[in-house]
Amino acid sequence: MMSLANKLAQERRARLAAERLLEMKQAELSAANRKLGLHAMALTKRIGETQAEVETVRDENEKVKSDLTRANAKIEVAERRLWHSMQTIQDGFAFFDDQSRLIGANAAYLSVFDGLDEVAPGITYARILEILTDEGLIDIGAETSVDWQARMLARWAQPQPDPVVIKLWNGEYFKMIDQRGNGGDVVSLGLNITASVRHETELKAARERAEAANRAKSAFLANMSHEIRTPMNGIVGMTELMSETPLDDEQRLYLNTIRNSGEALLVIINDVLDYSKIEADKLILHPEQFDFERCILEVAMLMQPSVRDKGLSLLVDYDLFLPTLFVGDPGRVRQVLTNLVGNAVKFTAEGHVLIRVTGVPNTDSETCDIHVAIEDTGIGIEADKVGHIFGEFNQVEDEKNREFEGTGLGLAITKRLVTLMGGSVWVESEPGQGSCFGFRVSLPTAEGPQPAPPDLAGRLSHVIVVEDLAANRAILSKQLGRLGARVTVCISGGEALSAIDDSVDLLLCDHDLPDMDGLELATTLKDRGWGDLPVVVMSVNPGVIHANPARHLIEGVLHKPIPRAELYSRLTMLGRTPAMPKAGSIAEKTPVKQRGGGHRKMRVLAAEDNRTNQLILQKMVKDLNIDLQFAGNGIEAVEQYQTFSPDLIFMDISMPKMDGKQATAEIRRREIETECHVPIVALTAHAMTGDDQGILSAGLDHYLTKPLQKQKIHQIIVDHQPVEVLPVIAENAEAD
Ligand code: ADP
Repeated sequence: MMSLANKLAQERRARLAAERLLEMKQAELSAANRKLGLHAMALTKRIGETQAEVETVRDENEKVKSDLTRANAKIEVAERRLWHSMQTIQDGFAFFDDQSRLIGANAAYLSVFDGLDEVAPGITYARILEILTDEGLIDIGAETSVDWQARMLARWAQPQPDPVVIKLWNGEYFKMIDQRGNGGDVVSLGLNITASVRHETELKAARERAEAANRAKSAFLANMSHEIRTPMNGIVGMTELMSETPLDDEQRLYLNTIRNSGEALLVIINDVLDYSKIEADKLILHPEQFDFERCILEVAMLMQPSVRDKGLSLLVDYDLFLPTLFVGDPGRVRQVLTNLVGNAVKFTAEGHVLIRVTGVPNTDSETCDIHVAIEDTGIGIEADKVGHIFGEFNQVEDEKNREFEGTGLGLAITKRLVTLMGGSVWVESEPGQGSCFGFRVSLPTAEGPQPAPPDLAGRLSHVIVVEDLAANRAILSKQLGRLGARVTVCISGGEALSAIDDSVDLLLCDHDLPDMDGLELATTLKDRGWGDLPVVVMSVNPGVIHANPARHLIEGVLHKPIPRAELYSRLTMLGRTPAMPKAGSIAEKTPVKQRGGGHRKMRVLAAEDNRTNQLILQKMVKDLNIDLQFAGNGIEAVEQYQTFSPDLIFMDISMPKMDGKQATAEIRRREIETECHVPIVALTAHAMTGDDQGILSAGLDHYLTKPLQKQKIHQIIVDHQPVEVLPVIAENAEAD
């Protein structure tokens, strides 16, 4: 029984265990089920997401694809357009790979090789060159094909070839521009420049025609000047003679107007001529040895008449220790000076014009920096105008200014000339106070005797300078001071008289003093017992002094502006002859030129074909004690040189049969035998300033430009009178 109960219990226990296990399994199962459900849910969500992603990517892909298609289409269009443009342009276009093989070329490029199939992608550049020459497609001028190809290949081989112009058989020009890219590819552009080359040729031809016309103009002007100057010379010369005849005031006024107009016309002609010459770049400098100081004094002398007429004073201050002999173009230097000094005089109504010359010798380069300043006390120039006056035809336009005549070319010419000399010009000006124009040039110093300051060895210890003009007082006291003399300056004769004492060994006085003239001062000195004191009188017009009976009271006369050489020789003479020479013996006292002391008249030959000019010359020298003969041409001049033995010859340059230069050369040849040099002075109607070079190099010593001026003619004759002749200036004027 037990066993059944046991069995039943056992079975119950087993059932219970089974039931528990079942329950457990069921719980596990439902947990697993739950998990599965969650997983499935997550999975579904992920699938959804991925699906969305895939869709986006697909969309994007499609967009990219369509973009690409569109881009491709655009590229195609662009490429087509580019190629189309390249095909349509007139210029050749090609590109080559890094092996110099043709990749492609446009029609213009290929058209040169029309019908030659070989010129296609793949052909080398070298072969293209060969085809060009072999087929005669290119005009290589005098060069051989081999040379041309070699030259072109060498150029092509350069990293960046220079552009080159080639000419085709049909006369077309191409400028080849080849650009090498980074990878070694070359883009080759052949620009058709035929039109511009033709244009250039036309322009060149036009320019040549214009230049020829300009040359013709210059030649025309040169001839015109000669043609105009010859009759003008007659007019101006005759007015000068006529002004010495008895005239009433009205007639004199008319006559002066004629003369001034004539002279003004000549100045204008010169300016226009010079400018046209500079403009045509025909102006060259002719360097030669020249005396700079003399040049300045000549210009000063030339200005003297207008300076005197206006009551101005013209002063020269040439640095005492500056050399005077330089190498340069004296004609052009003179022209620059004439322009600047001429303007200074023109634009100054009262006061002075001072030419100041200073310089610094450069010992190493044997040149000298010369500074020339021309100061005036004139109307000045407004600051805003100063910049313009060096331009062509530029004048200061205001009511103060336009009473002055002129072409407005002077300063433009001056500037060009100085620039041509390697120098510079400048101006400083104060309206109402005056102007200072200056220029600087560097000139080689010439070999030759430079005037050395005299060695006075203390013989001149105290000098009284009597001069009413402050600037001149300053110049003289500076110069004498540098020579070691003590200088007392006085502004009037009266002041000088009270300043005199025993220490004074020279009185240097101006002739035109406010209270008395120089000779009156000398007379007073003599009256007061100072008769032994040497007095030297300075004057712009020494003729007046020579003609004065009191002339014998003074030691000598210095012609203002005073050349340093004159001053030196005068001072040196003082040292040598401390005692006063006897009164009246002027010949002994005059230092440089020995005045005529002989028994025959001075012989002057004038070669001049023009009857009017002969007449003018004859009249101009009628007061001189000379023997004047005329020759009508160069041949006669040479003949008369032999028969007449002149002491001085005036030589017209343009004469029939044989001109003045030839005649001079002929005379100079004959002089080699006689060993005797006759001074020959050219009379020239040529306005072109460059001419003086030709004239002086032809063996002439000096030249005068027509119209002739009596004073200059006289000066030349006086300067050249030899010792053995009778004085050329009439006895009564000389013998006091
Ligand atoms: P122009 O023939 O008129 O004198 P320039 O070229 O020599 O021609 O001078 C140009 C202008 O410069 C003159 O017209 C004048 O107005 C001015 N000028 C030149 N020099 C001076 C001076 N020293 N003082 C005042 N003005 C001057």
